Amino acid sequence: MTLKMPMSAPEITPEDVRAVEAVLQTPYLSMGPRVEAFERKVAEYAGVRHAAAVSSGTAGLHLCVIAAGIGPGDEVITTPFSFVASANCILYERAKPVFVDIVPETMNLDPALVEAAVTPRTKAILAVDVFGQPADYDALQKIAERHGLLLIEDACEAIGAAYKGRSVGTLGEAATFAFYPNKQMTTGEGGVIVTDRDDWDRLFRSLRNQGRDENGTWLNHVRLGYNYRMDEMSAALGASQLDRIDGLLAKRARVVQMYNERLQGTEGVTIPTVVPTTTRMSWFVYVVRLDAAIDRDALMARLHEDGIACRPYFTPIHLQPFYAERLGHLPGDFPATEAASNSSLALPFHSNLEEGSVDAVCERLRAALARATTVT
Ligand SMILES: *Cc1c(COP(=O)(O)O)cnc(C)c1O
Repeated sequence: MTLKMPMSAPEITPEDVRAVEAVLQTPYLSMGPRVEAFERKVAEYAGVRHAAAVSSGTAGLHLCVIAAGIGPGDEVITTPFSFVASANCILYERAKPVFVDIVPETMNLDPALVEAAVTPRTKAILAVDVFGQPADYDALQKIAERHGLLLIEDACEAIGAAYKGRSVGTLGEAATFAFYPNKQMTTGEGGVIVTDRDDWDRLFRSLRNQGRDENGTWLNHVRLGYNYRMDEMSAALGASQLDRIDGLLAKRARVVQMYNERLQGTEGVTIPTVVPTTTRMSWFVYVVRLDAAIDRDALMARLHEDGIACRPYFTPIHLQPFYAERLGHLPGDFPATEAASNSSLALPFHSNLEEGSVDAVCERLRAALARATTVT
């Protein structure tokens, strides 16, 4: 049997389709009443005062960096184990991403290393909630307070997650959620920045809208801005998806449980860890770790031949060619990040993955592992 199993798949219901179609019957296609309604829903869901919708998670992170006043010569401490956007947003403002290594268990920033990396030029900490597991915010907040730094949250992979009972999105000065189609919920392209700060929210609204003044006056541009607006179709889809986000997250957790039950105890495979401070996990991807003796890339090639999509997650940012060149990084600089990257294997994962498909993936993974360990 040839399979064709993708890495991810958004869940689009007939209600989602109707919500988007309805927009096309209105005179508003760019920012309008649906964007406002979506923002209110996100703010309420995350438990924050303000939410500003933007055209992508990356755009949201960029605006957070601007709001934090980060500029040339400033340093921002962040993780190399992430999607490239969480470091790019720092370079956009000509500041320096200062990478520190991760805690192997959660693959999130190691607070002890963050503390050790603080210099007089450090302006902020940009933490990433990797794979939907919150970073160690109590420790990070203490460091931020002690050194007068701003804490920015890249929650692009973590909508709905909680740290010690506190919602992701409320744990820093501002946080960004992202809604690309492989995330827990989608708007096509899109993101939302959440914050309790009135001044930052006002700034986000101006910056995303070509630097227009607070009233959005058509040709009154008070600062250098961007076109980072979300459109009404995206917002309508987002609002419709957010209405069932808890259901979506529960379905993803069920798929994780199915995988865990089948893979637990499999020789050479470590299933994902959820630490006690994560009082609610928001599963973005399903990533297992392979023993160092296993040739991960050969294993992936076999799974691909079997029609099963899989990939390493993540490739370290400091070793991306232009980062390595620009910041002078070498293999070996961040051993925990590199070990996580070299041994990671993300398997097909989405809210509607059926039990039979999980069975098929696990069977083929086991067969490929058997060959990988005998052919040494
Ligand atoms: C998805 C993601 C982003 C932003 O993604 P966009 O595609 O710009 O919406 C940023 N950081 C992390 C860690 C992500 O996973």
